[in-house]
Amino acid sequence: MVNPPPMTNQKPTKILQELDLTHHLHPFTDQKELRSQKPRIIVRGEGIYIYDNDGKKYLDGMAGLWCVNIGYGRSELAIAAKKQMEELPYYNTFFQTSHPPAIELATKLALLAPEGLDHVFFSGSGSEANETNIRLVRHYWTSLGMPEKSVIVSRKNSYHGSSMGAASLGGMHTMHAQGGLPIPDIIHINQPYWYGEGKDVTPDEFGLMKARELKDVIEKYGRERIGAFIGEPIQGAGGVIIPPDTYWPEIERICRESDILLIVDEVICGFGRLGSWFGCQQYGVKPDIITIAKGMSSGYQPIGGSIVSTKIAATLEQKGGEFNHGYTYSAHPVSAAVSLENLRILEEENIIEKVNSHTAKYMAKKWHALGEHPLVGEARVNGLMGALELTPDKSSKSPFTDSGHAGIITRNICLNHGLIMRAVEDKMIISPPLIIKASEIDELTNIVWTCLDKSQKELKQKGLLAS
Ligand SMILES: *Cc1c(COP(=O)(O)O)cnc(C)c1O
Repeated sequence: MVNPPPMTNQKPTKILQELDLTHHLHPFTDQKELRSQKPRIIVRGEGIYIYDNDGKKYLDGMAGLWCVNIGYGRSELAIAAKKQMEELPYYNTFFQTSHPPAIELATKLALLAPEGLDHVFFSGSGSEANETNIRLVRHYWTSLGMPEKSVIVSRKNSYHGSSMGAASLGGMHTMHAQGGLPIPDIIHINQPYWYGEGKDVTPDEFGLMKARELKDVIEKYGRERIGAFIGEPIQGAGGVIIPPDTYWPEIERICRESDILLIVDEVICGFGRLGSWFGCQQYGVKPDIITIAKGMSSGYQPIGGSIVSTKIAATLEQKGGEFNHGYTYSAHPVSAAVSLENLRILEEENIIEKVNSHTAKYMAKKWHALGEHPLVGEARVNGLMGALELTPDKSSKSPFTDSGHAGIITRNICLNHGLIMRAVEDKMIISPPLIIKASEIDELTNIVWTCLDKSQKELKQKGLLAS
């Protein structure tokens, strides 16, 4: 490289990797595999690009972990953090105390959220926010004299975080298998995954069928047992599963007719990912609780929360009694100040409006064109999250027998070509920063096409494709 970008960390990559392997246990990582592969050391970010310790540039097709919505390198957020740290680096919001960043952020979120959602309970992450939701739902029904309404219905292959309660809400069986999950009173129904599980009926019929599994559960257990339903507008970590349009309105209808709270987990879909402040607005549903995190601060500081309906907040206030729950870092002042600055940038630079009016349409055109590739069974996208379903046989769209192999091969080829794209089994997924430009979408999709070609060649050599 002619002009390597400046590096703040001057240790050689080899030494950093060795220290990392010696002292750092990684999340969602096979440590044994890590030792043979060596960790990538990322040192810097700018716009939609990140750089490793050797100066190699990557287009970050995942916005970190679905969170860097405004892109890397916005010094305004660093300035907001510095200012807040100097003024009040920490104080809590327990015991009848508050501080300006907490108040300003709660007020701003109430303004941005759909009408009727106007209170915020803060956490440090999405997982924590969903822990709060489990306890809040059960506390709410108990305070109304219905403690047996403790069951929460979720979906298979959903993701709601990694702590005990949140992973129990989630429908990832590999996570449940470690540590004796789920906790009691969580029920999982099937996901609205038409491509994978529903091709024998139309998407609209399939959406209704899957939503009505909620009704079946209510009939089986009784509405007096079911307290809430939780779902992501679009499942992210499960592989960008975009539900048929019939799905969410039917879920909402069933929740309303059976007096069940609707929790929409907007940790990914919130803050512009689908071209609106919240994903539920795209599907025309109004939840009782919204889970937020990730794009809330564009990942610059850890923060999450639950936006709660006026009805729930008013009930808790009226009934009185302490909610015995909270986090040391609920509404952390530095995180809150950074989140406010992030929201200011999203709003003043019309970033979400641009996604809605331009970027999402351009992405859809380019993404659907990737669906022409012989290795791709389906290309789906909504806003700025998309997936490609890899298939060994385009005519039948059958899945690979050795699930996940093709995904890993393709992901690694993408990495070699300077693109971060994630593989969920054999689904290739993207969720780039919202500030991505048309020319950068061209770049992204061109790299993907090249990598699909190479992947196809490699899979063919290994005898994994239909002839
Ligand atoms: C990432 C994610 C979470 C968990 O958030 P953390 O900040 O990692 O705890 C919860 N729900 C959804 C939909 C997510 O994508």
